Amino acid sequence: MQSNILAVCYLIGSVSFIIGLKLLSHPATARRGNMVSAAGMGIAILGTLFLYKPEGGSFHNYGWIAGAIVIGTVIGSLSARRVKMTAMPEMVSLFNGMGGLCAALISIVEFGHIAQDHSDMHVLSIIAGMVIGSVSFAGSMIAYGKLSGKIKDRTFRGQHIFNLVILFTILVLGAVVVGSGGASPVVIFYGILGLSACYGVMFVMPIGGADMPVVISLLNSFTGIATACAGFLYNNQVMLTGGILVGSAGAILTILMCKAMNRSLKNVLIGSFGGTVASAEHAAGEQGAYKEISVNDTAMVMNYAHKVIIVPGYGLAVAQAQHSCHELEKLLRSNGVEVKYAIHPVAGRMPGHMNVLLAEADVSYEDLLELEPANEEFGTADAVLILGANDVVNPAAEDDPASPIYGMPVLEVWKSKLVIVNKRSMRPGYAGIDNELFFRPNTSMLFGDAKGVLQHLAGEIKEL
Ligand code: NDP
Repeated sequence: MQSNILAVCYLIGSVSFIIGLKLLSHPATARRGNMVSAAGMGIAILGTLFLYKPEGGSFHNYGWIAGAIVIGTVIGSLSARRVKMTAMPEMVSLFNGMGGLCAALISIVEFGHIAQDHSDMHVLSIIAGMVIGSVSFAGSMIAYGKLSGKIKDRTFRGQHIFNLVILFTILVLGAVVVGSGGASPVVIFYGILGLSACYGVMFVMPIGGADMPVVISLLNSFTGIATACAGFLYNNQVMLTGGILVGSAGAILTILMCKAMNRSLKNVLIGSFGGTVASAEHAAGEQGAYKEISVNDTAMVMNYAHKVIIVPGYGLAVAQAQHSCHELEKLLRSNGVEVKYAIHPVAGRMPGHMNVLLAEADVSYEDLLELEPANEEFGTADAVLILGANDVVNPAAEDDPASPIYGMPVLEVWKSKLVIVNKRSMRPGYAGIDNELFFRPNTSMLFGDAKGVLQHLAGEIKEL
């Protein structure tokens, strides 16, 4: 009877993950999706704790489990509340690393429990979970370090070959352990563990800073697969379903992000795009003169335009100017101006960053244009106001085959009659490359912190 109720708990958990994922796919329902999945996970955990009967008795370590849950909950909720929107990818990376570490630890514990009557599949699940989990953990920690600027891109000649050798050694040793049915010397097992962690570090180390979110998404997929291995090991359906869903969602997101940048996964993994490498190669060159525009003049242009398209970027998130931006939008609308937002899929520092940021300020989803429709509409706009965006509006992606971002789809803001770019200086964006847009005849620079500028702009428009 108890095991039937437990099976129902696992079924509820699995279904809630699927429903949660579906809801997560739209900003309006994403919060609910998170809650639904978390509730499903809660039911599965409680079911396991109180209904699962391990062979030969019952759980006897409730104190440890409760302690770990309390500590994890406190740390998780405090860090999620305190994290700045711009530091979200770092946090995702850390949390993902913890998932990988858990999967690896499960394998380590279970390797010590291998009994005489185990199957080869059992040992295979243990080794696969440990290898993939530790690669994901070590890789995520490096990705975290890179995103937070604590670790620089590092590479050496022949690194990719070195990485392939490590990978090959892991596979050979893994086959030895599985072939021996887990009876091989324990030093081989821990050797695989060490090599896997080393591979995680070496695999992420040379990847360019700007590609970190793609890497995190890939590592997220690895964590899902490692969890699925643990689910297989324990014959636990909810772990298996959860792991498969995370594994496949991570893989799909990786593919979608590569598509958004028009790059192959191979190019991402060995291309060293962004961060220090790109900055060094593309140090500021002579681009000619740029024009400046005052807040006063910008207010006049915006107020008397028929249609304005706002392009938010990473700088808007840094300045926490989303509310001021929405205020400006409402003000312009009340004066009869049509206002829309053009959202680039990789604007900001994580997928959907701008959607989340604008949703926080109650900007209506109906006013957000995705890349392709936005590119069709720029030609009909009197003015485009770029707020802290740079790489995602760089024409080099279309015009300069030598540029590291060549081929990445960008917002073709230059099609509008007038382009006003708000940023604090002429410094480059994340990819570390110059932007020729700033020097075009129909572009004017509006320097200053996005929040201050937007508040000033709203004040000026009210005076008109
Ligand atoms: P960029 O990093 O290209 O540019 C942001 C600009 O904002 C900078 O040039 C900076 O200029 C300006 N800025 C910074 N602070 C402020 C401020 N307080 N007020 C006004 N402006 C400010 O951002 P984009 O959004 O255009 O492009 C995103 C980049 O990040 C792309 O290269 C993308 O590939 C990459 N990326 C995207 C991820 C994603 O999933 N979305 C993940 C990781 C990287 P200044 O210093 O002069 O003010």
